[in-house]
Amino acid sequence: MPDIAYKSIDIIQSDQLERLQRQLKFVTAHSKFYQAHFKKHQVDIDQIKSLEELNLIPTIGKKELQAHYKDFWCVAPSQIRDYTNTSGTEGKPVTIPLSNTDLDRLAYNEMLSLACTGGDENEIYQLTTTIDRRFMAGLAYTLGARELGAGMVRTGPGIPQLQWQTIDELNTTALIVVPSFLVKLIDYAINNGIDYKNSSVKKAICIGEPIRNSDFSLNALGSRIKEAWDIELYSTYASSEMATAFTECSIGKGGHVLTDLIVVEILDEKGNKVPEGVAGELTITTLGVEGFPLVRFRTGDICAVHKEPCACGRTTPRLGPVIGRKHQMIKCKGTTCYPSAIYDVMDRIPEISHYQIELSLDNLGNDEVLIRYATNSPLEMGSLVNQLKAGIRFTPKLEALSVEMIMPMIFQEAKRKPVKMVDKRANSL
Ligand SMILES: [Zn+2]
Repeated sequence: MPDIAYKSIDIIQSDQLERLQRQLKFVTAHSKFYQAHFKKHQVDIDQIKSLEELNLIPTIGKKELQAHYKDFWCVAPSQIRDYTNTSGTEGKPVTIPLSNTDLDRLAYNEMLSLACTGGDENEIYQLTTTIDRRFMAGLAYTLGARELGAGMVRTGPGIPQLQWQTIDELNTTALIVVPSFLVKLIDYAINNGIDYKNSSVKKAICIGEPIRNSDFSLNALGSRIKEAWDIELYSTYASSEMATAFTECSIGKGGHVLTDLIVVEILDEKGNKVPEGVAGELTITTLGVEGFPLVRFRTGDICAVHKEPCACGRTTPRLGPVIGRKHQMIKCKGTTCYPSAIYDVMDRIPEISHYQIELSLDNLGNDEVLIRYATNSPLEMGSLVNQLKAGIRFTPKLEALSVEMIMPMIFQEAKRKPVKMVDKRANSL
């Protein structure tokens, strides 16, 4: 399939509209949920003759998915080839089935994403995330690398020693990695005398955590990695519900939207579109999905879209870094922020080796923030307080713990990602 990302905006939009109309017809014919949703809200899909008119359909959110997930399934069990589920970091995980067509689409999606990072048949990827546990992304990377004609080594998560042995043995060129694990890999290399700066690895595809600020400069985590190891860093963002990835090119100014696979809208609290470059809630409509198609699904992720053509030659829009989850917004002592702002402060302090944020409500129902942390060298509490005040304009409660105490809280067996934040507030969905 040709890469539409280099075509004119008119061609991209008319292609997208055609695919959207096809997806709407498909859900009208096959999705119990959307049949009921369209009927309830008197939606006539034949009236949707432009991308803008998609707003005739009311949005839906995670609650609908969790309450009725099987009503979203659009294929018979005999057509399902793979069962995945959402991460379940927010309430009950939702099972998402993929048909054969969906697996082809997933492979195409990831092939384009990897190509966006300059990948080709000479690349050897090392997958340091899980491929099992019903995790869609691990499968996507494996299928995408194959589609690209590249090599793949599935080392799986953890075990820095195995990761470095594999790099040494197979000369892998690109890591697919959670950025905080990349920090651990670097620390392990330093502590064990591994000449990592001269290794075969030239780039990292960073998943699960942002490495950039909203202005696309590297955030504390990104800078920490780049200063220790000058490899190319590419941020990528995806979710099982979207079944589509947003991946940076070498320009590093946001994840390119794969316009033939997804429609993105950025909405404010009232459901109105926000201007270009302004952060709002990412709302998506999948294109070409059979098993679990979604129309106007509010992801809860807060980010901005940028539409000017990219210096890489692609004309597709780009999504800025996710600055937080809608419900994670912290309102504390007259100011508001997302946990990512706290991560950014903590990641910039070299003495901090590990931390976890806990959000709860005080007796009056106000947000309360507690940061548990461990250090690798002495750190004055006053210095930490000052840096937090400067970064987030309030001082959370602080609790110093030993590394042994905090590690099991962050790296939990059953979780796919490190647990950096625990939200105990009642409204945490
Ligand atoms: Zn680009």
